[in-house]
Amino acid sequence: MGLNKVSVRAARQRELIGESVCIEGWIRTRRDSKGGFSFLEVNDGSCLANIQVIADADLPNYEEEVQKLSAGCSVSITGEVKESSGKQDTEILAAEVTVHGWADPETFPLQKKRHSFEKLREWAHLRPRTNTFGAVTRVRNVVSRSIHDFFQQRDFLYINTPIITASDCEGAGEMFKVTTLDLENLPQRDGKVDYVEDFFDRPSYLTVSGQLEAEIFALAMGNVYTFGPTFRAENSNTSRHLAEFWMVEPEMAFYDLDDNMDLAESFLKQVFSTVLEECQEDMEFFNQHIDDSLLATLGSVIESDFQRLTYTEAVEILEQCGEQFQYPVEWGRDLQSEHERYLTEQHFSGPLILHDYPSAIKPFYMRVNDDQKTVRAMDVLVPKVGEIIGGSQREERLDVLTDRMAQQDLDPESYWWYLDLRRFGTVPHAGFGLGLERVVQFVTGMANIRDVIPFPRTPGNAEF
Ligand code: ATP
Ligand code: MN
Repeated sequence: MGLNKVSVRAARQRELIGESVCIEGWIRTRRDSKGGFSFLEVNDGSCLANIQVIADADLPNYEEEVQKLSAGCSVSITGEVKESSGKQDTEILAAEVTVHGWADPETFPLQKKRHSFEKLREWAHLRPRTNTFGAVTRVRNVVSRSIHDFFQQRDFLYINTPIITASDCEGAGEMFKVTTLDLENLPQRDGKVDYVEDFFDRPSYLTVSGQLEAEIFALAMGNVYTFGPTFRAENSNTSRHLAEFWMVEPEMAFYDLDDNMDLAESFLKQVFSTVLEECQEDMEFFNQHIDDSLLATLGSVIESDFQRLTYTEAVEILEQCGEQFQYPVEWGRDLQSEHERYLTEQHFSGPLILHDYPSAIKPFYMRVNDDQKTVRAMDVLVPKVGEIIGGSQREERLDVLTDRMAQQDLDPESYWWYLDLRRFGTVPHAGFGLGLERVVQFVTGMANIRDVIPFPRTPGNAEF
């Protein structure tokens, strides 16, 4: 008879009472009872909670092995699921305990005491075995799936845009270079590096956004989205920036900025409510241990209408609010995160969509308004995290677009294909970019973005 392998999550359900099962996982704790048996707490990552296993002294390897089990050891356990008299519904009465791997309690780092998240980052190979990182990992998985569900339900096509690119979408300086040139011995021509010798015959980079390529597909297929890794070489050591992160970028033909804002708002609400529905146990854990206003905040965000106001209105509020900011507020300057947080946390106490930003602080592809001073940009801001989405209606008029490129010293030659989209069947279109890790931060309440991605890449950190 084959083993009835089940997850800890399944074994914790009352429906399995009376069944003979096999669970496999890692020991969290062992407690020996005077009555001649041991309690083992086993976790396999399928859910936050452990299953309690009763291992009787009759087991043939009780003294040799069971009584030596400690945190981190890996085991397979067969036995019958029983109704538990404790606070959990079920427990397993072990018929057989097989030890696969020991974890020396003298050297295994994850002992019972609480470790700081900073410390756990040094053990990124072991932190998935902690409650918090298990919960983050499961929530991140549900967020990713619900992102695909949202777009697939609306017939958006999932497309894959390149990770290596020769176009610098947002302006130089923050891109990682990709090269096979010998850095110790660079080929030169006229006193400069000769990129003709390089792999792609030109300077190339890791992408900062798939938007420009997504536009190509939107202008053929209607509604599309990309969801992939994105790279920024900015040297910002903040709790909200990574050098490698995951971005979702929908791009929609025949959409204006209002359509774009409507989509972004229903998108976030659907993702948040899916997490609340499907990750109850993990979300209660975050509410209890990380941020006790989490469930209330998410609930109210799902119910509320996101406030929408122009950049100009936001600047007026900030100028008149009497708050002392570190960075000055002045029309034409970019808003800093302290300003965004004041607006979402103090003034409106909820999510906001700011739109119509000064053209001088935004990229060339955003649609210019009739006032000639602002562009159809939008940022979605949420309490604590700040900007979670940035997007815009795109400039679909060839002449305006080439003027903007000239103003920003961009070479139209290298964007010839992007400009062709305006030459051949151009349409109004719009899109946005959502940082996956910012969403996971917002829904879990985790303060540092390095703790919501399995292996964070930040300046000076690429160990794992
Ligand atoms: P910020 O002002 O916060 O640095 P940005 O305006 O440079 O962000 P966009 O270019 O608008 O960011 O990118 C779209 C989205 O991608 C952002 O709203 C954010 O959710 C996410 N994002 C941007 N940069 C990072 C980063 N370095 N690490 C993690 N997520 C990021
Ligand atoms: Mn932005």
